[in-house]
Amino acid sequence: MGKVTGFLEYERTAPVKQDAKERLKHYNEFVKAYQSEQVNKEAARCMDCGVPFCQSGCPLGNVIPEFNDAVYQGNWELATSILLSTNNFPEFTGRICPAPCESACVLGINKSPVSIEEIEKHIIEMAFAKGYIKAEQPLIRTGKKVAVIGSGPAGLAAAAQLNRAGHEVTVYERDDSPGGLLNYGIPDFKLQKDVVTRRIQLLEKEGIVFKCNSNVGVNVELNTLLRDFQSIVLAGGSTIPRDLNIPGRNAKGVHFAMDFLKQQNKRVKNFSIEQEAILASGKDVIVIGGGDTGSDCIGTSNRQGAKSVTQFEIMPMPSAHRTVNMPWPTYPMLLKVTSSHEEGCTRGWAVNSKEFIKDEKGDLKALKIVDVEWQIDASGRPLSFAEIEGTERELPCQLILLAMGFLHPQKEGMLEKLGVELDVRGNVKAEEGKYQTNIAKIFTAGDMRRGQSLVVWAISEGREAARKVDEYLMGYSKLPSKDGIP
Ligand code: FAD
Repeated sequence: MGKVTGFLEYERTAPVKQDAKERLKHYNEFVKAYQSEQVNKEAARCMDCGVPFCQSGCPLGNVIPEFNDAVYQGNWELATSILLSTNNFPEFTGRICPAPCESACVLGINKSPVSIEEIEKHIIEMAFAKGYIKAEQPLIRTGKKVAVIGSGPAGLAAAAQLNRAGHEVTVYERDDSPGGLLNYGIPDFKLQKDVVTRRIQLLEKEGIVFKCNSNVGVNVELNTLLRDFQSIVLAGGSTIPRDLNIPGRNAKGVHFAMDFLKQQNKRVKNFSIEQEAILASGKDVIVIGGGDTGSDCIGTSNRQGAKSVTQFEIMPMPSAHRTVNMPWPTYPMLLKVTSSHEEGCTRGWAVNSKEFIKDEKGDLKALKIVDVEWQIDASGRPLSFAEIEGTERELPCQLILLAMGFLHPQKEGMLEKLGVELDVRGNVKAEEGKYQTNIAKIFTAGDMRRGQSLVVWAISEGREAARKVDEYLMGYSKLPSKDGIP
């Protein structure tokens, strides 16, 4: 522990963000990096408690008190190696993780928790700047080949670990560039794409082969993969969005959030867009859905110059304090105000959408909504809702973005052709901790297995699945496990 009295002396300093009006003029990241003195004080606030709940709160099992101490001592090389021992991509989680570690920080009981996420970002950026991050090829190649399908954080983490174990790894990605939702989904203002490209280039130097525009089961033959690779990791994400089948669904101007967000990611890259442009400029925009995706639609709509942005959530407004058994989006995020909300939008809770109203040309002109009252059980869990009489109304709008989450992976094509078993929710079935499907050589990780989740979970599952593949191929594995199994 660096400074015994640190947590008594220093208060948490929130990272400084560029002013909302200014940051709306661009798509770049706007959270300013901590100054060295600031990061040193934050690290000094870590109490090094006997039981580091932050560490168990992190899906990767990041060894947080130890890297905090190294940061406080100014030993960046040590901090980097501690951080990288459990997390392949801290530059992603250090920017966009909701930081369950901070929710678990013991200091949070009566003070603000340690800014673990910012410290993590600082360590990895310092490591890149100081040249500690170098492409490392494995010393020995095993001669075994593994195909990873999908290049999101789960696929990338699996590929990185399998390559480290000496296997020859090829990553297949149906999009034109790798990264999954890190690349085409999460907006640049949360995660700039040069950060993603920097990591992909490093993985390529380490020996991983990326094949883009390769839609497995469509333009890449499954039989060829099954023949040429000793193992396959399915990391295709959870890509089927939840729809809202109410009257008027075919109105021109109602779109899935991902179609809108992906186009903007492409525009920032100066890539061409083949589909009809979906733009918020000059429009009254309504975002239906109160999670991360909805929030990203708000930030993007405001940057595109929307006339107004309104977000509706069917669930009741969450309390400002933790209530047990509350479903998403009320738990674990509680009442979440994201940077996109700060930039401007009207929010409505317990609002049900009833009809997309079209004009005579079929263009969207309004959304019919109604307020609902939720029946809540003794533990605070919302059970069912009833419309509140007299609250039905129409709200003019020209663009509606559906951001109500994702159901499961796409079944047609790859999954159906492979014949892998699915679970009751339609995700690829594999027991947590085993990652092996009903077909022995095929493993799965990330959102494709656990359903829509978080980047930190995708990385964690990719790492753990890689270990299981390595064991399958070699009979043993020296890759680390988050449970500390040697
Ligand atoms: P994905 O990232 O979805 O990657 C799967 C990849 O597989 C895709 O590139 C897809 O094209 C490819 N693929 C699928 N099928 C095939 C095939 N047959 N052949 C070849 N390639 C295929 N999480 C956070 O922690 N913080 C956030 O701020 C956050 N924001 C988000 C914002 C949005 C808009 C969305 C949609 C999600 C967000 N998430 C966030 C969740 C997070 O992005 C996901 O949990 C994570 O990316 C899942 O990783 P994955 O590797 O399992 O899948």
